This record gives sequence, C-alpha cells and structure tokens, in this order.
Amino acid sequence: MGETPGKPDPAADRVAWAGPRILLRRLRDVMANEESPQARLDRIVRLIAAEMVAEVCSIYVRRGGDVLELFATEGLKQEAVHKTRLRFGEGLVGIVARDAQPLALAEAQSHPGFAYRPETGEEIYHSLMSVPILRHGRVLGVIVVQNRTARSYGDEEIEALETIAMVLAELIVGGGVLPPGGSDTARPARLSGRRLSPGLAHGHVWQHIPYIAIPQLVAEDPALERERLDGALSAVRERLDTLTDRAEAAVGDEPRDILEAYQLFARDSGWLERIREGIFSGLTAEAAISKAQDETRRRMAKIEDPYIRERLQDFDDLANRLLRHLLGEDDEVHAAELPDDAVVVARNLGPADLLEWPREKIRAVLLEEGSATAHVAIVARSLEIPVIGGIRNLFAAVDSVDEVLVDADNAQVFVRPTAAIRDDFMGSVAARQRERETYARMRDLPATTRDGIEIGLYLNAGFLIDMPHLDATGAAGIGLYRTELPFMVRDDYPDLDAQQDLYRRVLDQADERPVTFRTLDIGGDKPVSYVDTGRQENPAIGWRALRIGLDHPTLLRDQLRALIGAAADRDLRVMFPMVAEVAEFEAARAVLDRELERARRSGIALPSRVSVGAMLEVPALFWQLPSLLTRVDFLSVGSNDLLQFLFASDRENPRLADRYDPLSPAVLSFLKSIADQCRAANVPLTLCGEMAGRPLEALALVAAGYRNLSMTAAAVGPVKAMVREADAGAAWNVIKDELQSPARSLRNSLLTFAEKAGYPI
Ligand code: PEP
Ligand code: MG
Repeated sequence: MGETPGKPDPAADRVAWAGPRILLRRLRDVMANEESPQARLDRIVRLIAAEMVAEVCSIYVRRGGDVLELFATEGLKQEAVHKTRLRFGEGLVGIVARDAQPLALAEAQSHPGFAYRPETGEEIYHSLMSVPILRHGRVLGVIVVQNRTARSYGDEEIEALETIAMVLAELIVGGGVLPPGGSDTARPARLSGRRLSPGLAHGHVWQHIPYIAIPQLVAEDPALERERLDGALSAVRERLDTLTDRAEAAVGDEPRDILEAYQLFARDSGWLERIREGIFSGLTAEAAISKAQDETRRRMAKIEDPYIRERLQDFDDLANRLLRHLLGEDDEVHAAELPDDAVVVARNLGPADLLEWPREKIRAVLLEEGSATAHVAIVARSLEIPVIGGIRNLFAAVDSVDEVLVDADNAQVFVRPTAAIRDDFMGSVAARQRERETYARMRDLPATTRDGIEIGLYLNAGFLIDMPHLDATGAAGIGLYRTELPFMVRDDYPDLDAQQDLYRRVLDQADERPVTFRTLDIGGDKPVSYVDTGRQENPAIGWRALRIGLDHPTLLRDQLRALIGAAADRDLRVMFPMVAEVAEFEAARAVLDRELERARRSGIALPSRVSVGAMLEVPALFWQLPSLLTRVDFLSVGSNDLLQFLFASDRENPRLADRYDPLSPAVLSFLKSIADQCRAANVPLTLCGEMAGRPLEALALVAAGYRNLSMTAAAVGPVKAMVREADAGAAWNVIKDELQSPARSLRNSLLTFAEKAGYPI
C-alpha cells in the first residue's frame, strides 16, 4: 500500500501483530471506564499511537454536512483540537473521507492532495496511514497515524486500524461524542430522486435499521462465535424459505424467483469465508459480519454496473438479517414498531423486506440508493407501493417520525410539509383515488372515440406479475412483452426449458388475449451478466438487441425455439427490436423459419398462427418502409428509442428530458407518415413507447392514425377516459394546420383544444 518504500523503520518491526486482538482488548477496557467521551477519545489516541509505534494518532469526526473536525490527537498540537476542520476531499484526511477508502503513504507530503495546516504542526511527519470510520457504509470520521520516518505501512496494519475504526464508530454513534440530531432536520424540505414505483402517499418516517448497535466487538472464544454464526445462518435460511412461500402466495412467481436466487447468497462461500476470517482474528460474529458488510459496501460504491450493485446489495441485506438474528431482534417484533402509516426510509432494501412487514402499514419507501431494476422496486410495483430511489443525503434530511408526503410519480418527497403543501397534496391524493374508481368502472367499456374510431389499448409487460393487470385494466392484450427483463434479474442464462416454461405461463395467463413477445433487447442500458458486451462508448447505439441476436445466433435461436414450444396450438406473435435494415429483419425471420421447420420435422406441436413484426425505433428503417411493409405481419413504433435517435438526445439523460418534445411538428409528421404507409399497406400498427401512455400524446397519436397503443397498466384508465371523449378528426385538424409551423412544439395548441373540448387530459 505504501507508495515509495521509505527507509525501513526498526521501530515498525517491533509491532508484531498478533492480529489486532491485544489492542482491541485494551480499547475495550478504555470503553468500559466511566469517563467523558472526550477523555475516552484522548486516551484512545494515546493508546493507538503507542501500540502502533506511531508519533501521531488523530481522530477526525464528521460534523454537519461534509466537514471533518479534529476531535483528539496524540502528537499534533493540542490547540488544533476542535479548531482544525477539513471538507470532504480536502487534504489527505478529506480524501480518505470522500473516497471511504484507506490510504497509506510513506511520503505523504509529496502526494498531490496533501494540504498543510500550520496550526497542527504536522510538517515534520513524513508517513501517514489513514482509514475512514464507517458505520453502515456512512463515513463518520477518519483516523490517522503518522510517523516522522518514511515508514511503509503493511496491509495488516491497515486492517488493524480498520478494526479499531469500527470500535470508534460505536463510540461516536452511541457514546455521546456528538450531540444528538447533528443534521438540519427542523425545517420543511423537498427531496428528489428517481421514480422506482409510482404512486402518492402520506405518512410518517420509519427508519429501517438506522443502526444496529453491536454491543461487543471482541470475542472471548472464537469457537463459540463460529457456532453462533452457523446458528444464525440456518435460522436466516429458514426464514427466507418462509418468505419465499409467502411471496408466491402474495404476489406470484416473479418475486418468488427473485427470492430463490437471493437465497443462494446465503450459501456463498467467499462471503462466508470473509466473515469466518474476521472471527478468527478475534472479532465477535456480529463484528465480523459488520466488517464484511463494510467491505461489500466499499465495493458497491466503486461499481457502476447496476446489476452487480444489486447483487452486492443482496449481501448487504443478508448481513443485516444475520445481525438482527444474532442480536435477538426478531423481524416480526421489529415490524410491530411500524407506525400505521409508515414511509420506510432506508439506504436500500432487500427483496424480502417488503414481504416481512404488514402491507397495510407501508405507505411508501424512500431509498438513498436503488435503481429501477432493483429487486425491491420490482416487488414494490407488484405490491403497488410507491418507491423513490437515489435520494441523496436522505438520512441527513429526515428524522424518525417526521411527516412526509411522497409523490413517487414525480420522484419528489416533501418532508415536514407546511399546512398549505399538505392540503394541496391531500387534495391530489383524494382526486387520484376518485380517478381510480372511475377507471375501474370503465374497465369493460370500449375505447372508442366520439367519431367512432376503435382504439386497441394494450399493456407493456415484462414479468409474470404484470399479467393480472390484463384483467384489472380490461386491456386487449400485451402489446410489448419485454423478454429481457426476466433475464436481467438472474445471474445465469435461463436455459431453453426455463424460457419455454416462462413463456407458456405468460400465454396461459393471457388466456387467448394476444401477447407480442419482443426478442431480447439486451446490451445498451440493459446489461446481463452472461453476455459480455465489453465497454461501449455509446451503448444505446452499440452492440445491443437484435445485433447481438444475429451475431450470437444460439441466443436468438434458443429464444425462438422456446417461444415456438410455448405457443403450441396457440397464436405466436414475435417482434424483433432495433431493426435498422430490412436485411436484418429477413435474417432474423430466417432463424425463426428454420426453427419452425425444425419443430415441424420433429413432430412438435406448432403454434396455430405465427405473426412476425419489427419495431420501428431506428430512423433508417423509415425509408425502407415500402420494402419492409411487404415482409412484416405488423409494425410497432418504439418511440422511446426512435425519439432519442431522431433528436440525437440521450433518453437517459435527465438534463435533456424536456429539451425536445414528441409533440413537435417534425415528430408528428414523421409518425403520421408511418401510419399512412401502414394503412395503405394494410399492416397493423402499434406504438409501444412511453408516449402512448400519456393522454395528450395519445390524443395526437389517435389523431395521426394510430389505432393500437401499448402502455403501462396505470396509463390504461387515463388514456381510455381521453379516447372516449375525443374526436380524432377534430384533433387532427388542429395539428394539421400547424405541421409546417416553425414552432418547437404543438403541445399548447393541442392542450388548449382538448381543454376547451372538455377532454380529460
Ligand atoms: C421503445 O424504445 O420505445 C421501446 C418500447 O423499447 P424500450 O423502451 O424497451 O427500449
Ligand atoms: Mg427500444
């Protein structure tokens, strides 16, 4: 770890670590003494300096925001205590805090991040070793040792200091080092994040494991700790079995599959080995788990790939379960503390947690981390619990029992709202409830416009848990089944049988209603662990979707074979994504034809009818429509990708989210031309991007000649309500007149028209 091995320091050799055990014992004695937190810290820095043969040992503690304050030192000038402050990222200590990573340097002053603080008198020290004081992944402070000589600190010494840092974390949190409520949690606040599961909620904060106090860090008897760990492991595994059964009963197969995968983590040998090593080095089972947990969190912080982060998150969650078991905190007892209107605040949640708690008490979930594909988000959507993820500084901004208003649709949270905000929000909640009741009553009514045009409303789906929405919404079928989504929640490639079983269940549940299966759209923003796409500069226009399928024909072939097998004696609809050339469509269709032929020869029951379509999401395909439309059975516009390519505007970039409008003259002319060509060629056309689910956009599409729209389940009611009031011809007249205008958007004109006509938009 040391950068340049400096002169060997004979003193350092004397520190023959029998693990950190002896030092930990002495620290425990210090902690047991009745004295003020400051006196304890002062004794601890002296003890560490002596034991580690360092001239300096200092402890910096995080104050409000990202500021570190020198709280105790042995070796630096005492006048600097409670005076020297550093921001995160400032100086070496600030860098350790910012990165939550240890640092060991034989020549600290030549590091570019070194910042000299004259009041400390540290200029005479050459080497430095520093580790963050972490608690549940949050940086509470930093501990530093320094030597005059250019000493190279070894990995063992860094580990020892990390273990000491764990003890200090307990002291800082539970030992009164900081006054309670260090954060600014008195005034109203508005937080924002990412929408992971839609909905509105009003409730009170309930912090999920704000912190699990570990009463004892140093073990008396390692063998006993091993036994305790093993006992906890089997209890947690048993509990997961129960929850897996509960998941199946409550929300269907998909959460069950997720939980089954999750259970495998409780048997991961590498992770368990790390915990056992901790026990071997003298820690209690709880402390060893907590140490492994911190390591995992550090890895998580460095990994960008959301898929791998979520796998690491599963380890984190398991560690919490083990800790709760070891500390005798029964999960069900824990749940009894939930307020009746709980808004759960957590760093992240595991897939099982939401099933652990009584559904009727959970109003919403707020997470510091979490992405749309996180397991908890998937389970939450099936339970219809609003979730916002990626809320920065969430824990600093809310306190237990704070009142909160959650608008997950717009990814906003109002903390400690004023009366005016609350009234306004509660008005929206009530209106939303009334709307839901109206939509439920419309379930079986046709989606026909006032001028007699019948619109097919379909669902976008990707999991089995989406299928019951067909009945709930009265949708006509599944217009887009994103087959890659189930692939993404698994670590391994689902073999042919697994795929066939899944597709068969989808068709069973659709019960005669059409399902359009889109072949794998992996790569791009949808990574899977078993296809290495390599690093791509522009993943959205990179090696993804059908491009991978055609280059890896076994992948495409297996999927088509599974679909054919699943659709025996039923209709099969297959759609290829990201088609850029007619030739690509032809090549993909040839694979399908070969598979059909193979099935025929093998005497496998064939689908009663096969329809094959393409997605139009790459603009180049538009100019090939005359040729394409003679070859496809249907066409579906993927407006999410199509728009990002038309405007050269990344669909994932929030800064560009409102920059271009799908209701621009350019887009509407383009979409209209597609509709006209399809009608002339007698090819059924659907639009399955997000715009289909927004009533005003849907009005424009219906006006432009789109007769089938596919959307999320929640959008069906609002779009149907609009369709039933709309006059498509009149709406087109409004648009048509402005198609040549230089305006960037026709939104306002259309909205004014719709409002005047009384359409529910
Ligand atoms: C689209 O691009 O519009 C689409 C429906 O596909 P996805 O959002 O899955 O890329
Ligand atoms: Mg797409």
